Amino acid sequence: MSVKTFHLKDYEKIVGHQVVEELYLIGERTKGLKIRNVNSTAVGGGVAEILTRMIPLLKDVGVDASWDVIKGNARFYQATKRFHNALHGNAADLSEEDFDAFLATSEENGKAMDMSGDVLFIHDPQPITLIEQKSRQKGKWVWRCHVDVSNPDQRVWDFLRRYMDQYDATVFSAPMFSRSLPNRQFLIAPSIDPLAEKNKELSEKTIQSVLDKYKLDLSKPMVTQVSRFDYLKDPIGVIEAVEMVQRYVDCQLVLVGGEAADDPESTEVLAKVRERAQKNPDVHVLAIPSGSDVEINALQRASAVVVQKSIKEGFGLTVSEALWKAKPVVASAVGGITLQITHQYSGLLCHSVEGAAHQIKQLLQNPKFAEKLGKNGQEHVKQNFLLTRHLRDYLLLFLALTHDGDVVHL
Ligand code: UDP
Repeated sequence: MSVKTFHLKDYEKIVGHQVVEELYLIGERTKGLKIRNVNSTAVGGGVAEILTRMIPLLKDVGVDASWDVIKGNARFYQATKRFHNALHGNAADLSEEDFDAFLATSEENGKAMDMSGDVLFIHDPQPITLIEQKSRQKGKWVWRCHVDVSNPDQRVWDFLRRYMDQYDATVFSAPMFSRSLPNRQFLIAPSIDPLAEKNKELSEKTIQSVLDKYKLDLSKPMVTQVSRFDYLKDPIGVIEAVEMVQRYVDCQLVLVGGEAADDPESTEVLAKVRERAQKNPDVHVLAIPSGSDVEINALQRASAVVVQKSIKEGFGLTVSEALWKAKPVVASAVGGITLQITHQYSGLLCHSVEGAAHQIKQLLQNPKFAEKLGKNGQEHVKQNFLLTRHLRDYLLLFLALTHDGDVVHL
C-alpha cells in the first residue's frame, strides 16, 4: 500500500505558520539523528497508524528516522496478546509457556535485528527485550508504552519491569499511566494526522459512494464504532447499548473493524459479533481490509454519533478521529479517552452499557447539543492531538536524550 505523505509546510494551513516554523527551528538541533523505531505490526491498530504518519514528517525535518517490525510466529503473538490482556488486568489465560514462547522469539529477534542508532525507540511490550542489545550499542534506549497500564496484572508487570528498568527513558501516553520507575519518564499523548486519507475533508459524493459500497443508507441515523475486533473494545456491549436505544429512536449501528497482524483473537471476536448481530437487521458488521482509510473516514463522517465503548484504552485514536470531524462521541471513561473528552463539553463519557445507551439516545434526540459537543471536540483535538504537536514532543525528547550539554545561554 502506498501512503501519500506530506511536508511539514503542508500543515501550515491547519496549525498556522508559527507552529511549523518552530518545528523547523527545533529540527535544526535534531538534524541527522538516527532514530530507529521498532514495533510488532506494520498495519492495524494505533501504533502502526501513528508510525506511518510520523516517520515521513520526522524525515522532513531532517531526522534519519526508520521503522522496523519484529518477526514472530503464531505462538509468540498468542503470548503477547495474553500479556496485553494481562496488562489490562485480565490474566485468565496466561501460562508459564507464554513466557517461554515470548522469550524464545524475542531472542531470535535480538540476534537478527540491527539496533544501531542514536535513539532506539521501542514501542510496547512485544519488542521490549531488544534492550538486551544495549551494552553493544551506544545509542539511547526509549520504551514507548501505548497501553493502559493503570491496573496491570502484577506477574506480567514484574516480568516486563526487568526490561523496562534498563531503558534510558520511558514514554507514557497519559499521567494516569506513569509509574515509579528508575529512568526518566516523559508523558506524550498520541495524535492523528489531519491530512491523512483517514482524516482529510471528503466530498459528499465520496461519502455517498462508500455508503453505497457497503449497502448502507442514511434513512436511519447511523451510530458507528470503528475498532479492531477485540474484547477490550466491547463490540457486544455496543450492540446491546444500541438495541436499548432502538426502543426509543429508530437508528442503525455500524461496527467497522479489521484485523491486526499481531492480534490472533480478532477472528474469534468477529465471529461472535457476527452471530450476535444476526438477529438485528439494523446492526451492520463490516470487516474491512487494513488501509481502507477513505472508507473509515467516510463512515465516521456519515455518522450521527460515534461510539468508543472500550473496556480499557491506551489513548483511542478513533476518538480523536471522530472529534476532528466534529462528530459527537460517546465513549467509556477509561484511560486516554479521558484526555480527549470532557464530559458534556467535548463529548459524553459513559461507564456501562446502560450509560452508553442513555448518552447515545440523548445525542440522537438533541442534534443541537450533539453539534456543540462535536465542535468543541474538534477544537480540543486541534489544540492537543494533531501530528504537529506530537512531532514537537518527539523532537524535544530526542534532544533531551542526546544533547551533550551545549546549552546556549541568551
Ligand atoms: N483502524 C483501521 N481499521 C480498522 C480498525 C481500526 O484503520 O478496521 C484504525 C483506526 O481508525 C485508528 C486505529 O486503527 O486509527 C486504532 O487506534 P486506537 O488507538 O483507536 O486503538 P488500538 O487499535 O491501537 O487499540
